[in-house]
Amino acid sequence: MDFDLIISGGGPAGLCLARALSGCGLRLAVVEQQPLAALENPAFDGREIALTQHSAQLMRHLGLWDRIEPNALSPLRDARVLNGPSPFAMVIGHGLGKHSELGWLVSNHLIRRAAFEAVHESLRKNGDITLMDGETVASVRTDRGVAHVTLASGATLQARLLVAADSRFSTTRRAMGIAADLHDFGRSMLVCCMTHDVSHEHAAWEWFGYGQTLALLPMNDDPVTAKHRSSVVLTLPSHEIDPLVTLAPDEFNRQMAHRFEQRLGTMTLASTRHAYPLVAVYPRRLVGQRFACVGDAAVGMHPVTAHGFNFGLLSIDNLAGTVRAAHACGCDIAAPAGLERYEQTQRRATRPLYLATQLITQIYTRDTPPARALRNLALHVGERFTPFKRLIAASLTGGR
Ligand SMILES: Cc1cc2nc3c(=O)[nH]c(=O)nc-3n(C[C@H](O)[C@H](O)[C@H](O)COP(=O)(O)OP(=O)(O)OC[C@H]3O[C@@H](n4cnc5c(N)ncnc54)[C@H](O)[C@@H]3O)c2cc1C
Repeated sequence: MDFDLIISGGGPAGLCLARALSGCGLRLAVVEQQPLAALENPAFDGREIALTQHSAQLMRHLGLWDRIEPNALSPLRDARVLNGPSPFAMVIGHGLGKHSELGWLVSNHLIRRAAFEAVHESLRKNGDITLMDGETVASVRTDRGVAHVTLASGATLQARLLVAADSRFSTTRRAMGIAADLHDFGRSMLVCCMTHDVSHEHAAWEWFGYGQTLALLPMNDDPVTAKHRSSVVLTLPSHEIDPLVTLAPDEFNRQMAHRFEQRLGTMTLASTRHAYPLVAVYPRRLVGQRFACVGDAAVGMHPVTAHGFNFGLLSIDNLAGTVRAAHACGCDIAAPAGLERYEQTQRRATRPLYLATQLITQIYTRDTPPARALRNLALHVGERFTPFKRLIAASLTGGR
């Protein structure tokens, strides 16, 4: 089968890219290993995604935003960074930016569903997307003129450009011979939704405790019980996370309230629990012959700075712009010069925060007394230094 562009992976990034390119006269294919039912109705996966104002704008433009019901879009007004048992917090307030909130929080499964619906609409309207669900990209090969893809079912596809959107552990990127630097933090994150007595006032917490890291992502109050609600993230060495996933809910609630030093009062589990191993990935190249990476395949961020999907949307905006421009002037959509430009822009946008995130996680998870004292000092100095806080606020809003 012949296409102009094949996307390997129908996660949020792959689907958003298909949506972004639909309607410009290209024949697009999305290959996704999950069955159609899982794409139509994605299961809750515990992730509450913090989106910058810029990402919200891109999602509006792609027609995803209005498909998410308003109560599922939680405003992120402020961010508080805490250290150890001290009640002191460095506060990044929304007043440092131009909006009444720094960004938004949306459940990952709702983003996935909105992306699928948007693609479905494009498919009905333009008829230019072939969605191959339940199919796995098994092998790939590119030459000067064509990208060849073989699926696990044995089917073969060809296109002028192949795009990997198949996660940070992208097998397509690997099959293209592109190396990647992986950093395994040896820790896992447990994520779930909990209700609690004390209001979060729509502030996110990043709490570098001693022996653990906690994060709280403020969600809108539970629509049924009107209780305060948050997505709670606990980071621990992986072997300590696993038993917490199956711990009896009452005991889990008690332990979480204790870990949060009762600052939120009584806490009650309000969803399933999910664990994610922490592995950050940065590929050595983002493009190759008739090949490009987007989404997590282009950078697998540590979630602490909440930028994975924000960078994913940037990569889509950037690559879709490059491809559309080339197609509009009758040029090759996979011309090396265009792909190089895409890579350079994307690296400039992501590499500094990727490296800064690695540094932050090293400093803030070291538990020696000098490291604890240093990070306490850093938070106090940071709190008084407005230009620094403005920089963080700009990163959280996406510079808008
Ligand atoms: C705990 C946690 C919290 C996070 N919080 C934030 C946050 O606050 N803000 C933020 O911006 N980001 C956050 N992220 C990151 C965000 O979830 C990811 O960046 C985003 O989901 C990546 O989307 P993707 O489509 O690139 O990859 P994925 O979601 O991994 O999708 C890849 C798709 O490719 C498919 N696939 C894989 N291999 C093949 C193959 N060979 N053939 C066919 N299909 C294939 C898979 O089935 C999957 O559907 C968080 C991540 C985690 C784990």
